[in-house]
Parts: sequence; structure tokens; C-alpha cells
Amino acid sequence: MEVIHSIADLRSRISEYRRKNDGSVGFVPTMGYLHEGHASLLRKARSQSGLVVLSIFVNPLQFGPGEDFERYPRNTERDLEVAEAAGADLVFMPTVSEMYPTPTRTTVAVSGLTSRLCGASRPGHFDGVATVVSKLFHIVQPDQAFFGLKDAQQVAVIQQMVQDLNLPVEIVPCPTLREKDGLAMSSRNVYLSDEERKQALVLSQALDKAKEFVQSRPNFHAAELENLVTSHIASAPLAVIDYVEVLAFPSLEPFENSTHTDSIILALAVKFGKTRLIDNVILQLRK
Ligand code: AMP
Repeated sequence: MEVIHSIADLRSRISEYRRKNDGSVGFVPTMGYLHEGHASLLRKARSQSGLVVLSIFVNPLQFGPGEDFERYPRNTERDLEVAEAAGADLVFMPTVSEMYPTPTRTTVAVSGLTSRLCGASRPGHFDGVATVVSKLFHIVQPDQAFFGLKDAQQVAVIQQMVQDLNLPVEIVPCPTLREKDGLAMSSRNVYLSDEERKQALVLSQALDKAKEFVQSRPNFHAAELENLVTSHIASAPLAVIDYVEVLAFPSLEPFENSTHTDSIILALAVKFGKTRLIDNVILQLRK
């Protein structure tokens, strides 16, 4: 495994690989502080690609004022161990000035899909994501890029961007990895106090309740499902709900009644103290 800091070096390393090999280039973009969820994306890339490129870059563009850019957890030494064990070949770790040597005057903005959920709560967040991912795609020029469905709205946004801009990359969505007790793995879980960590279990429990509810009912209203989930989360005194929303997936359009909808997403964002956690479940309603 090789660690690379400059765009020029990464480009020449990848071109060299392409000159000498027929294999595909798989890419896993991350912000580091790697956990098993990230490792699962790397292992999937390892199983499908000849060269596995991991990027670790805490992208300032996707953090709003007052968000956790400064205190976002970082641990390069451990990240490199996880990356190597999971099969990364190249780890790209640029500085902010390498990625943004001058103020960015070009922004990639995906409309519609970004108006709800995290797009509504974090204005500008998905512009930052789409801009950095399109820069990284231009630098790495991967054949496949692996993204976690833990950030399902991000997957929908990136898929739309790739389609609209005719980017020659296949987006591979990967399932959410969870801790044994159900909490979705996240770099931000490290912020939680013991009590917040305990109470945060209501999130995956609420998603399980929603799954059961949907299985037992052929037709339901989005609001019924939202109410069920909201009331379970509200049973945790420290939980402050940002949103609980049920939308059609992958369009992320609202719907009232499930009768005409094939696939839905139940997505939530909830704060415990200063830590904002997101989670979701995607449910197929018809075979
Ligand atoms: P991040 O470092 O949080 O920006 O995440 C980098 C990639 O890892 C994104 O595609 C995430 O969706 C994915 N990811 C984060 N958490 C998980 C998880 N628990 N399971 C699977 N993928 C994840």
C-alpha cells in the first residue's frame, strides 16, 4: 500500500497502473477515522477491482458554519492500518490547499434531490459533496466508486450527478454496517457520551419497528410510519429530532399512500447532545 499526498503523484501512479494492467480501478472516497463500514466498502472494491484507491479528505466545503469541521475526528496511523487490512492499494490524503489551491469558483449543484432531508437541514452540504466527489472522480478516473447506503441521499445525489454529467463511472451502493446492538457505524459515534450512546439505540430500534409495521400492512400512509418512528425516538430523553421522513426511493419524492410506491426510504437525523446522527432503511413494498 502506498500513501500519496499530491494530485500529480496520484495521477501518474494510476496512469502507470492502467498502462501495465487490464484491471479496473475501484475508488472509495472517505473523510477518514475509518471503521468497519469503510472497511466493508474497501473489501467490496478489493473483490471487484484490480487497483483499489482510497481517499481520506475532510472536505471543508461540505461543512456549514458552526458544524464540526474543526473537531472532526482524525487518526491517520489507525486509518492506514484499517486501509491496508481491507485491501487498499493507494491511499490519497491531500491537504486542503492541494484540493483547493485557490478559492473554488466552480460548484457542482444537484437540484431537487437535495431539497429535503439533510439537504434541508444542512444548506450547501450536498454542493460541497458533489463538488469534491466530482473533483475526486476527475483526479482518480475510477471505473467503479463505492458508497455506503448509510448516506442514502448522498448515493442518490451522486448517481444523479454521474448520469447528468455523463461521468464514466459505475456507482456501487453498499449496505450499512452496524454495531452488534444495531447502532449504525459512524466516525461521529466517538463523540457520544456513555449515556448518549445508550439512548442512541432508539434509532435502529425505531427503524426495526418501521420494518415490522410495513410488513404487516399492505397499505399505509407515510405519516403513520413517521409518527410510529417519531414516538419511539421521543422515548429517549436526550434525543432531539432534526427530521424523520418517509419518501419514495430513489426519487426522494414525498408520497401519501403506499399503494403506488414500489420502494421507500425512511430516513432520520437526530441529535444527542452536540452529535447529529443519521440512519435510514430502504424498504421494497412490492416484488
Ligand atoms: P464518511 O467518511 O463518513 O464520509 O463515509 C465515507 C463512505 O463510507 C461513504 O460512502 C459512507 O456512506 C460510507 N459509510 C459510512 N458509514 C458506513 C456504514 N456504517 N456502513 C457502510 N458504509 C458506511
